[in-house]
Amino acid sequence: MTFLETIKASGVVGAGGAGFPTHVKLNAKADILIINAIECEPLLETDKYLIRNFPEDLVKGTEKIGSEISAKRKVIALKSKNKKEIAKVREAIQNLNLDIEVKEVGNFYPAGDEQMLVREVAGVTILPTQIPLSKGIVVTNVATVLDVMSEMPVTHRVITVTGEVNSPTLIKVPVGTSIKECLELAGGPKIHGFKVILGGPMMGKPCNEEDISTTYVTKTLGGIIVLPEDHAIINRHNLSIKHILSRAASACIQCRMCTDLCPRYLNGHPLYPHLVMRAAAFSDTKGESCKSAMLCCECGICEMYACPMGLSPKTINQYVKTEFLKENVRWENKEGLEYEVSDMREYRKVPTERLIRRLDLSKYVKHSFDDVIEYEPSRAIISLKQHIGAPATPIVDEGEYVVKGQLIASIGESLGANVHSSIDGLVSVKEGYIIVEKR
Ligand code: SF4
Ligand code: SF4
Repeated sequence: MTFLETIKASGVVGAGGAGFPTHVKLNAKADILIINAIECEPLLETDKYLIRNFPEDLVKGTEKIGSEISAKRKVIALKSKNKKEIAKVREAIQNLNLDIEVKEVGNFYPAGDEQMLVREVAGVTILPTQIPLSKGIVVTNVATVLDVMSEMPVTHRVITVTGEVNSPTLIKVPVGTSIKECLELAGGPKIHGFKVILGGPMMGKPCNEEDISTTYVTKTLGGIIVLPEDHAIINRHNLSIKHILSRAASACIQCRMCTDLCPRYLNGHPLYPHLVMRAAAFSDTKGESCKSAMLCCECGICEMYACPMGLSPKTINQYVKTEFLKENVRWENKEGLEYEVSDMREYRKVPTERLIRRLDLSKYVKHSFDDVIEYEPSRAIISLKQHIGAPATPIVDEGEYVVKGQLIASIGESLGANVHSSIDGLVSVKEGYIIVEKR
């Protein structure tokens, strides 16, 4: 099999975000390969653990991917504060005698946003709605590189479990393990009345306490954070869009802090959340000034950090984007403009430590996780759509016995990713899922 065929067969997807199929992303030629080893979401320690423990695989994978896409520059980007990880990567590069750069980036959020990282490493601004490849750059993340290097089906994830749990820890579990079991591995929740954030506190998705038994680990999950149900982050998730729009109408003072601190705006994009807020306040969410919402990467800086009134520009952007998409309206660079980075960008980066304090998360910070708890459940509920694109099609029958790593759902020629069994057991096929149960 070729390099890309092996990646496709293994079902590798971008582990750090929405799960873009890696065999599609790497089907390219580029001048620069950037490995995103930033892990900028507060509290998450998954990538740092992987870097410390598998530096040679990371470096070899960087070299392999870089040579496959003909990259002249291969760069591993890490936060300069992560001294242990930087030392491990440098040592591996030296031992393997490879021509790979280490780029140290400041401790700000969202340093790991693809467009921010490209700016830090290559000094260019990707045009709005374009991908880094438009400037000859491919960006991929640590877990994805390790998945590519292993040449094995993607069946497990290393996940940070933290927040209000008795023993914050890293776990390594099969895809399809329930969130409830993941929490039990971390000693269980230590409070009554909690909610879970799947992913990081800034961009993760909330999961209700009553849903943790029926929500499952996917290939893109890197963090599980338990927070009190009255935590400010959870309160934001609980607001209805009606309530959010009405608060915008009554309390937005048009100070434009949301715009002035917006990383994409500072990177040069014509994104103006304060104008979207103004329009939304007058129920005009489909006007021209709202179209910039389509350039929002949903990093959360505007509403979790910038807005002095505690309003929700990001959520309004999400709402406006969905409304535009329903009508197939896209943002267009009609005049073919180039966009330049703001002179203020360097001064308006949001320091992660300050962000953590603002989010009231300081007490959950644990600086290093050295151990991983490995676990195998008796049942794995494996989603057929853990990636961007079409769901995979089941290729196993009800009652069939499968083994770990066996292909159970195929993507064929569609955009998407293959799905493999993460444990040995008997199959049952349900709408959108394959359940594998040990005998
Ligand atoms: S979430 Fe807010 S700060 Fe982040 S890109 Fe969107 S508008 Fe800008
Ligand atoms: S920061 Fe808040 S109050 Fe200021 S313009 Fe933006 S949404 Fe309105």
